[in-house]
Amino acid sequence: MVLTMNQIEEIENFAHENNVPIMMDGGVELLLEKIKEYDCKSFLEIGTAIARTTILVARIRPDMKVVTIERNQNMISEAKKNIEESGCAPQITLIEGDALEVENPSGEFDCIFIDAAKSQYGKFFAKYSPLLSKHGIIVIDNLNFHGFVDHPENTTNRNTRQLVGKIKRFRDALPNYEGFETEFYNVGDGVAVTRRAK
Ligand code: SAH
Ligand code: MG
Repeated sequence: MVLTMNQIEEIENFAHENNVPIMMDGGVELLLEKIKEYDCKSFLEIGTAIARTTILVARIRPDMKVVTIERNQNMISEAKKNIEESGCAPQITLIEGDALEVENPSGEFDCIFIDAAKSQYGKFFAKYSPLLSKHGIIVIDNLNFHGFVDHPENTTNRNTRQLVGKIKRFRDALPNYEGFETEFYNVGDGVAVTRRAK
């Protein structure tokens, strides 16, 4: 008997072998949990990579509508292949381009997941938060950035320090964004869940 790995395991192995920064396990668990808790039926992802989270979210329910945006051609090819193989393709729209330049998708989203270039988080939030449905959530990954945000002294690399500084400024400002309330979770690489203030 031939044992075949399931598709998600294959995607995860590919990610680890090719240094694709997919969401850490604790983070993806929290994301899937929150999507269920908030009864989300639509999902907008900024930063598809190879569509591992895209597919996991589409699988939560057959009427889940997923829109995901990716600019890197290598990621796009791999993502398309994976989406095709997942059987969830009818639920998923992949927008190819820079998330800061493409036209916003139409409609509202119950969950918006910000997981692209960490230096641009403020801009992604500004561009996409107006698409959040009334009772929706914005989930933001990598707010600890490998622990460097709390311990910038652990890296001497200039670019990393700059990036970490930007993430910290965004993370510090987020709880004060008007009209929103935010909770931070120390899981995975640091995740925030933001919703409209009541
Ligand atoms: N969300 C994925 C992981 C994304 S990794 C998961 O959970 O598995 C971050 C991805 O964002 C990379 O593939 C990178 O190419 C993409 N990215 C970074 N900046 C972007 C931008 N401005 N527009 C679109 N994609 C971007
Ligand atoms: Mg991430």
